[in-house]
Amino acid sequence: MNILKSWDYTRKKDKAMAKLYFKYGTMGSSKTAQALITKFNYEEKGMRVWLIKPQIDSRDEGCIIRSRIGLYSDAYVLPVQEDVYKTFLRLEEPADVIIADECQFLSEEQVNQLAMIVIEYNIPVLCFGLRTDFRTRMFPASKRLLEIADSITEIKTICACGRKATVNVRLDDEGRILTEGEQILIGGNEAYTSMCYRCYNICMRRCGW
Ligand SMILES: [Zn+2]
Repeated sequence: MNILKSWDYTRKKDKAMAKLYFKYGTMGSSKTAQALITKFNYEEKGMRVWLIKPQIDSRDEGCIIRSRIGLYSDAYVLPVQEDVYKTFLRLEEPADVIIADECQFLSEEQVNQLAMIVIEYNIPVLCFGLRTDFRTRMFPASKRLLEIADSITEIKTICACGRKATVNVRLDDEGRILTEGEQILIGGNEAYTSMCYRCYNICMRRCGW
């Protein structure tokens, strides 16, 4: 082995391999707050964070990510058709870390592109979002993340009964559980809450489903 090769090997061994992270939780599990706290922690160490949020509405021009506890930050709004790998390469200031909030709204392709950034540039990518929709079915991006992420963590929150909440529940104006409709609903009057699967089923039976 020549000297250069052994030096390269040592350097590679010393540098931790970046990972693709999926941190999922239900509605109200403080995912956005955790995404923003994570951003702050990286920046405190002098690292540049590229915060992104998938665009779910063509009217969505705002680029502020806001958590319920009052934290907020500017973010890049990523259009559905955009190649996030190419956009990453064109950034004016190269990023050390990528954080995606509401990652369930990415496309499967965009998840694959983020994974390629991790592999080819050794940049950690942290995706925060929902695992399932209000019909208890996985979002395509979340399914893809569960398939390929290097690290999968559940951000837990509890149901009113004290068990862990796992279902995102869509409610109508009168508080009834909805089980049909578009996966992504923009501008409706519906509200969301989270429940354990047991309470979800009991509530549905009470609603006469
Ligand atoms: Zn419950």
